[in-house]
Amino acid sequence: MADSIDEECDYLFKAVLIGDSGVGKSNLLSRFSKDEFRLDSKPTIGVEFAYRNIKVGDKLIKAQIWDTAGQERFRAITSSYYRGALGAILVYDITRKLSFENVSKWLWELREYGNSDMVIVLAGNKSDLSHSREVTEEEGKIFAETEGLCFMETSALENVNVERVFLDMISKIHQITSQKIL
Ligand code: GDP
Repeated sequence: MADSIDEECDYLFKAVLIGDSGVGKSNLLSRFSKDEFRLDSKPTIGVEFAYRNIKVGDKLIKAQIWDTAGQERFRAITSSYYRGALGAILVYDITRKLSFENVSKWLWELREYGNSDMVIVLAGNKSDLSHSREVTEEEGKIFAETEGLCFMETSALENVNVERVFLDMISKIHQITSQKIL
């Protein structure tokens, strides 16, 4: 899934995808890193990651994005998954209320094990399935505002806001990191 590390990049960031099983994390990542959508279920269990180079201003950033690859199903995510991550995309499925209710649990884990200034973006995925919606956009927005997170609804299937959700996170990480360097 990953290509080799490019020596010429200015920064290398780690970010993670987290959220209940089946909310679309893998498809968001494959859409972002390869512009692909997978209809089949995941073939392997174990952490996977993908890289993508992004230009922010005159800097070349290599984002290394980790995916749980199904481990959350067995509650097998360990603190090492979060270690060193500067950003996270916390995903729920707008057609599955429970996945939204579990966002608090994932947020707790992120804050417990992740960096204190980690950039967290909340993504309500499967926005193409509005006829089966169980979580309103307003609910997502209010929760995100209360917790101080960025928020947007996405569709990995129709490629809506996928680029935005990742790029927002990456540029915010870049902002924070470059302030620290100065
Ligand atoms: P993960 O377990 O969170 O990594 O979820 P997957 O990426 O494996 O997706 C779970 C299921 O949801 C698969 O059947 C996907 O095809 C489907 N899926 C993922 N994203 C979307 C989306 O944006 N819209 C729709 N309609 N289905 C999606």
